[in-house]
Amino acid sequence: MSTAGRLDIAIVGYGTGGQAAAVFLSRDGHNVQVFERAPSPRPIGAGFLLQPTGLEALWSLGLLERALAYGAPVERLYGETIGGRPVMDMRYRELDPRLFGLGLQRGTLFSLLDRAWTPAVQAGCSVAAVDTDRGTLTDARGRRYGPFDLVVVADGAASQLRGQVAPAHLDRPYPWGAQWCLVEAGAWAWPAELRQRYRQARAMAGMLPVGTHPDDPTPRASFFWSVPTAELEPSAWCGEPAWRAGLDAVWPEAAQALGATCVPEGLAAARYRDAVHSRWHAGRAVLLGDAAHAMSPQLGQGVNMALLDARALRDALREAPPAQALPRYVQRRRAHVRAYQAWSRWLTPLFQSERDLVAHVRDWGFHPLTRIPGLRNQSLRVLTGTRYGWFGALQPDAAFLEALDAARTRGQGWRPARSAAALAETPPG
Ligand SMILES: Cc1cc2nc3c(=O)[nH]c(=O)nc-3n(C[C@H](O)[C@H](O)[C@H](O)COP(=O)(O)OP(=O)(O)OC[C@H]3O[C@@H](n4cnc5c(N)ncnc54)[C@H](O)[C@@H]3O)c2cc1C
Repeated sequence: MSTAGRLDIAIVGYGTGGQAAAVFLSRDGHNVQVFERAPSPRPIGAGFLLQPTGLEALWSLGLLERALAYGAPVERLYGETIGGRPVMDMRYRELDPRLFGLGLQRGTLFSLLDRAWTPAVQAGCSVAAVDTDRGTLTDARGRRYGPFDLVVVADGAASQLRGQVAPAHLDRPYPWGAQWCLVEAGAWAWPAELRQRYRQARAMAGMLPVGTHPDDPTPRASFFWSVPTAELEPSAWCGEPAWRAGLDAVWPEAAQALGATCVPEGLAAARYRDAVHSRWHAGRAVLLGDAAHAMSPQLGQGVNMALLDARALRDALREAPPAQALPRYVQRRRAHVRAYQAWSRWLTPLFQSERDLVAHVRDWGFHPLTRIPGLRNQSLRVLTGTRYGWFGALQPDAAFLEALDAARTRGQGWRPARSAAALAETPPG
């Protein structure tokens, strides 16, 4: 229980950030109520890479074992040109032999977090306004909720509420987005690697093994295909033969893995934003997850950041009442987030743009540069999410590292995922 006692807390949005905040805060004894726009809350998109940072947040919720039971351990981050020239080649173990990433289906994390508390979710409720002084919410139909002691605004990258909490000094869409979907992993040749293939910066395909889902034992991989946002409009659809031929020219193995996928119906469209706030809180309201710091997924950190935000908010509320806890939470998270937002902003045009010269320099310079010993360590830290600020490092908890090491020794996460029945038998925490 926090020093502030039991608080009435509203959370807007039941994505990863809202879910994680709900679990962390309800477990501390707070009275948590979630407001979610979707009539039936569910994850959108395919899969993602959990970094050691995000795994540590799950560990602190007692959910590491469950995540490992379903996810696909990822040892290596590898990207190459269509000619086979390596552009990125990093292994977690170079940083620490105990570390690895975990590919996870969105639905799996959704389900793990949803089962980790007694959900109190008002679904189909689109929040239109937040009164930061009173701690009240108003939905799109004019209904009022509250007052709450604290309102956590976690309504995602395209947040309509962030400006009501604090003005953004940057909030703009990226000109490129993606199509993505889950495919059967089948005999995919690289089951422990995030792999990408590039043709200049104009085309990028990615495949990430993401394991299974509690309700579906089929191992899957998450496919990613970079697209200018204008081409995500249905009116710009190039037709299935041209689309498949485009992918085949970049990565025949991925095109083959996509064979059974209906396109474009089976592909989800993703658009990203870049949003920077100098303040994340006002009165009784605070921003969390993409609502606080939307960024391009180039470095694959957003889910991890949302989990870390939720844990940091929980920790700050354990130490002090909201008026003092909110600035502490922001202060602890901002240095981590700011550096990643800047790196994502700089790196994205190297991978998603029409800048051929920039891509050429990337193809020739990136890999050799990241082989220089000092720079290699820096790049490893950035890619694994463990850089803190420009020069610092997040130090994982020793007990968490032991838990990871023990899982590896036991072969946990390296064997086929367990059934839903086995999950139900695993006690939380
Ligand atoms: C293609 C792609 C690949 C990615 N890959 C990775 C990766 O590998 N690793 C990684 O860590 N991150 C990755 N990310 C980033 C990650 O998906 C996001 O950072 C993360 O999902 C943010 O979580 P969130 O809870 O802040 O927002 P969201 O997950 O967007 O959740 C917001 C929720 O708020 C709800 N909502 C919105 N408005 C309202 C309203 N007015 N009232 C009520 N509810 C509302 C929405 O319906 C939604 O449920 C990727 C993103 C993309 C697009």
